[in-house]
Amino acid sequence: MTKIGKFIISNEIKEEMKNLVNKTSKDNIERGFNLCETPGKKDIQIASKCIGNFCSLELSESKCKPGDKEFGSFHTHPSSDVNFMSSSDIYSSHLNKEKVSCIGTSKDINCFIPIKSKGCNKSTSYELRKKQISRGMKLEEELEIKHKDQLYPFRMDYEKVHNTLKNTSEMKINDKKDHTESKEYLNKCFKKIEI
Ligand SMILES: [Zn+2]
Repeated sequence: MTKIGKFIISNEIKEEMKNLVNKTSKDNIERGFNLCETPGKKDIQIASKCIGNFCSLELSESKCKPGDKEFGSFHTHPSSDVNFMSSSDIYSSHLNKEKVSCIGTSKDINCFIPIKSKGCNKSTSYELRKKQISRGMKLEEELEIKHKDQLYPFRMDYEKVHNTLKNTSEMKINDKKDHTESKEYLNKCFKKIEI
C-alpha cells in the first residue's frame, strides 16, 4: 500500500493499475479509472473506468458514488517514454482539483501530488496546453503540405493522416518539446512518487 496524506492506496488498487498497464501494452489503448474518497474512511475506492483515446478526458467528467468525493485519477499511457502527465493531464488535474494524478506505463507507475506554488494553477496549465495544441496544429498543417503525395490516397481519412504525420521526424521533435515543457511544469508544481 501507499499513503497519500491520510489516505491509503491499497495493494488491490495497485494490482488493478498494473492490470490495465498490461492490457495497454498489448493493444496501445489508454485505460483508467477515478479514485474516490469516502467520508470517514482512509481507503481510496475505484470508480468509473474508461478506455480509449479520450480516456483521461472522460475521467474528468465522471463522478464518484453519491456521498463520495473525487480524490484523483489513474490512467495508462501506451508509450513508456511518457511516464508522466501530459499538459492536458496537468490541466484536468487542476480543473478537477485532484489530490493525486497517477500515470501508468510498462516502465513504472508514477503518482503526482500538486504543490501549492506561484505559477502552478489552472490558468498557467491552460496556457501551456493551449500553446502546445496550437503549435501541434500549425506543424500538422505544414506537414500535410510537405507530405501531400504520401497522404493523397487517404487524405479524407483524418485518423490515417494524423497517424502518418505522427511518425514523421518533425512531429517527433515537437513531441519532445511538449514533453520537456510538461516535465518542467511537473518538476515545479508537483511532487512525484513511484508506487
Ligand atoms: Zn495522459
